[in-house]
Amino acid sequence: MDERFDCIIVGGGIAGLSAAMILARANRKFLLIERGEFCGAKNVSGGVLWGADLQRLVPEYWEQEAGYERVVGHRRLTFMDEQSAFSLDFKSDHFNQPPFAGVTVLRARFDEWLASRVQEAIDQSTAADESLLATNVLVDSLLMEDGRVTGIRAGEEEFFSDVVILAEGVNNLLTRQAGLQPAYVPADHVAVGVKEVIGLDQKVLEDRFQLRDGLGLTNEFVGYATRGVEGGGFLYTNRESLSVGLVLGMKDLGEKKLKPYDILNDFKAHPAIADMLAGGEVLEYSAHVVSTGDLAGVPDKLYGDGVLVAGEAAHLLLNAGRAIQGMDYAMRSGILAAEAVVESTDSKDFSRGALARYQERLEESYVIKDMRAFQGAVHLLHDPVMGRTLPSVICDFGRSYFTVESKPTRKTADMLKQSVRTHSSMWEMMKLALRAARNL
Ligand SMILES: Cc1cc2nc3c(=O)[nH]c(=O)nc-3n(C[C@H](O)[C@H](O)[C@H](O)COP(=O)(O)OP(=O)(O)OC[C@H]3O[C@@H](n4cnc5c(N)ncnc54)[C@H](O)[C@@H]3O)c2cc1C
Repeated sequence: MDERFDCIIVGGGIAGLSAAMILARANRKFLLIERGEFCGAKNVSGGVLWGADLQRLVPEYWEQEAGYERVVGHRRLTFMDEQSAFSLDFKSDHFNQPPFAGVTVLRARFDEWLASRVQEAIDQSTAADESLLATNVLVDSLLMEDGRVTGIRAGEEEFFSDVVILAEGVNNLLTRQAGLQPAYVPADHVAVGVKEVIGLDQKVLEDRFQLRDGLGLTNEFVGYATRGVEGGGFLYTNRESLSVGLVLGMKDLGEKKLKPYDILNDFKAHPAIADMLAGGEVLEYSAHVVSTGDLAGVPDKLYGDGVLVAGEAAHLLLNAGRAIQGMDYAMRSGILAAEAVVESTDSKDFSRGALARYQERLEESYVIKDMRAFQGAVHLLHDPVMGRTLPSVICDFGRSYFTVESKPTRKTADMLKQSVRTHSSMWEMMKLALRAARNL
């Protein structure tokens, strides 16, 4: 094989595989390098893949033996204090229409499946003999000449290309080497995710969560779940398992000197969670860094001469309270990066001027539009009033509202006032309501 490619992609996660699919379909000659034994071997996600971009990559993916676990058909947001859990719960048949709003995934299975679809696209392309998905190879560094990226080095081997797409995930050492992000990423721009996959008999799981026809539940948690550390909790249903975990602000965790797994164990022991996990067997533990979705963490330029950055390597992620969106952002940015590369191979122009079109299109897409529109919500979520005060007020109110005593019952408004006064003040809650109305 001639070792010069149109494009080299570093990383066989969702961003890298999405880019590869577009390049294969456009008959480009490319090399994708993944350090894991197989695509997905090293990847962690909560994880719900939101949105409809998967349909763009694998049309009617639900018609085949696809790599997802369940279609999201039931959503729940829970506010917790130490003894109670108060949920907003939404179940609707409208969710069950393809292309679905969200599917739960286990990355080892999903990424491997997506890689197999990319391989099919390569096999059908005119560059089938010259394109390759290479696993178990670590890219050590970028090759550069006069400030332009010309290829990559992996161990003793060097590979050259017109352009490199960096889709290496949040630990973006090569992106920093390319000078697109400062070497030091502040701790408040990253969080640590800890997660367990808990096996449950499929029938028990479906009965317990009232699931039918391959539908599943997503449940996010705010409050006691994180023991006061910035972040939140999640529980998602897979085919025969649950994904349960926490995303915890790295800086706050360090300052509070708490250990992620101690917090996860407390979360799992909360009565509301323990009942959902009962009888399950821990199959997997994992921990992974994840971006907080602060726009300040996104490099100013996602392109340079001969290089583009996609997915979480570019800190593209949004967690504004409704959902964590990292995988769909990785997918869309991978697609847009590859489309820009295809145009550059047509015009033979791989300069930063030509590749800037990638960032322009990303700016026009929902990815950057939403990140900009919901930055206030991202910061609000990290405010202690959301993590501690509000869940305490809501749970306290829930205890009054749902308790029937053999004595005169207070009016609902009086119960609410009492709960606010116990944990906060009317002024603080009004300020919160205004901020929420402005930012959510
Ligand atoms: C606990 C947790 C929960 C989450 N929940 C959700 C969720 O519910 N929904 C959602 O949308 N997002 C979620 N996310 C975020 C989501 O997982 C990421 O945003 C997404 O995986 C980013 O995809 P990516 O392709 O950019 O990077 P990754 O998936 O990290 O892929 C990067 C790939 O590059 C490879 N790589 C890195 N460096 C090299 C190298 N030098 N050489 C070769 N290969 C290399 C890695 O092995 C990896 O396969 C969650 C994250 C965590 C940690």
